[in-house]
Amino acid sequence: MPRIQLLSTRLANQIAAGEVVERPASVVKELLENSLDAGAGRIEIDVDAGGAKRIRIRDNGVGIDVDDLPLALSRHATSKIVELADLEAVATLGFRGEALASIASVSRLEILTNTGDSGPGWRARGEGRDMAVDVDQVQHPRGTTVEVRDLFFNTPARRRFLRSEKTEFGRIEDVVRKLALSHFEVSFVLRHNGKLVHDFRAARSRVEQERRVAMVCGATFMENALYIELERSGMKLWGWIAQPTFSRSQADLQYFFVNGRTIRDKVVVHAVRQAYQDVLYQGRHPAYVLFFDIDPTEVDVNVHPTKHEVRFRESRQVHDFLFSATHRAVADMRPADGMAPARLTTVSQLQAPQPVQESMRGLVGGGGYASAGSRPTTGSALGQMDVYRNLHQPAATASAPRIGDARADDEDIPPLGFAIAQLKGIYILAENAAGLVLVDMHAAHERITYERLKAAFAETRLASQPLLVPETLAVSEREADAVEEYQALFSQLGFVLQRAGPETLVVREMPSLLRGSDVTQLVRDVIADLIAQGASQRIEAHQNELLSTMACHGSVRANRRLTVPEMNALLRDMEETERSGQCNHGRPTWVQMPLTELDNLFLRGR
Ligand code: ADP
Ligand code: MG
Repeated sequence: MPRIQLLSTRLANQIAAGEVVERPASVVKELLENSLDAGAGRIEIDVDAGGAKRIRIRDNGVGIDVDDLPLALSRHATSKIVELADLEAVATLGFRGEALASIASVSRLEILTNTGDSGPGWRARGEGRDMAVDVDQVQHPRGTTVEVRDLFFNTPARRRFLRSEKTEFGRIEDVVRKLALSHFEVSFVLRHNGKLVHDFRAARSRVEQERRVAMVCGATFMENALYIELERSGMKLWGWIAQPTFSRSQADLQYFFVNGRTIRDKVVVHAVRQAYQDVLYQGRHPAYVLFFDIDPTEVDVNVHPTKHEVRFRESRQVHDFLFSATHRAVADMRPADGMAPARLTTVSQLQAPQPVQESMRGLVGGGGYASAGSRPTTGSALGQMDVYRNLHQPAATASAPRIGDARADDEDIPPLGFAIAQLKGIYILAENAAGLVLVDMHAAHERITYERLKAAFAETRLASQPLLVPETLAVSEREADAVEEYQALFSQLGFVLQRAGPETLVVREMPSLLRGSDVTQLVRDVIADLIAQGASQRIEAHQNELLSTMACHGSVRANRRLTVPEMNALLRDMEETERSGQCNHGRPTWVQMPLTELDNLFLRGR
């Protein structure tokens, strides 16, 4: 073994850079965080050749005192914390005091800065293996410019890992987008090879913020998103979440900020994912831009050098808060709130409706979801289409005010309007204030039945009703065994089943919410589900799937003729039911065709 020696400053910094400076985008992230910590209101980012050649960040923040300049380039030197206690409540984005030293050790770095509005500015560079800092006088306005040239020029191994200019610039854009979302009050300009790429103006009002969100996440996200805001026991969650019908095939539109810091966190992702449970297609991902503010002492940000991860001290409590806030909001997305989950815009889209929510403005103007409390979902016992008869009543409670498109004489028209006709035994056509509404009646009824089954099941058990004539059912021995094994569960689901022989069952009672449906088929399917799921996991984890199977049986089938009052009763139930914008499989249950778009189809008013 050779003898032990102290590493040179530059080499020690290069080793530290291994963790923090992975690629040009990490440089941009660190420098932008410094500018934000310095209170900048405007930041300009100039990038050449994907950042490998040059990155220059100019801010109008507080600047660096000339005497501190050498320290700014040293490792373990920071103005943001002094003692351990500060680390436990850190409010700045940086605090490790190593970014500038690390970047300077693997590039040619220059800092130009001025703390005042007048007087000269200063320039600092770190030279040689000891990174001695050379300071000279230059002209510079108040604020700081950091220029990083030839990244990794002295660390060829790192340089080889760089991808194409386009890829590296794409990562830089991601960094800028995230910080632009978490710092609405700051304006950002991003240029690549001298060409303007983004110009985010400072956004103070909600409307301006939404414009920025639309620039970052796309206009369709914004059109499909709902603004939420909720505060409880020192925690606050606010931002925009998209309706389930605007789901993504990738988890690529999920922005979550904790105290202004973008993070990846399992607790958070899980909580929000749970909120969308059973309204999303299998394998689809929800989209959101959410801000979570919590007392800094409740979260440990010193978990990873890149500060991409955090640890919540009370992670259970955080999970519950996030879940309940987002769950409520998702459950409340229904016609009564003026949400139009889908809209048809052009003739070509008649075949493939693009889900677009149209009355966002109105909602946003209303300021979040005031309806954060729970709403009764089991108010009536309308599980069955027979019951819809004679129930036509223009629901007075359902017409929540819609700021965006309210017209005086539309006040009494409920959100989903009144039924006009039924099409091919599949769709309901209705007229509301905006124009034409099309409803997939099976999908809608299935959701209503499902939500009722869930609510009733949650109150211990489903009410059952005796069959006038008990049904005898021939099954396999295995199926009959399963029924005996899960007797308690069947009775909870509202069935009374008896074994009448090795391969015979008798159904004596069924869930009253599902009366009128094909009971033998229903029982067979529930048994099949139970056998399929019971073997692998605990039944409780699958109870929603069981209820969903049951809901499917208990719902109006296609080709079932409905009277106008029955149709209207279904529309009113949709307005009252949580998650009624999507069927149990995440497909939309209704679409709005506004009159203006119908006019467009016929080239009216041009
Ligand atoms: P950290 O951000 O963790 O403190 P850095 O190495 O990123 O460490 O920066 C070191 C110090 O340099 C900061 O604590 C701050 O005082 C100063 N500094 C860096 N960039 C800026 C800037 N853009 N404006 C003002 N001060 C800055
Ligand atoms: Mg920093």
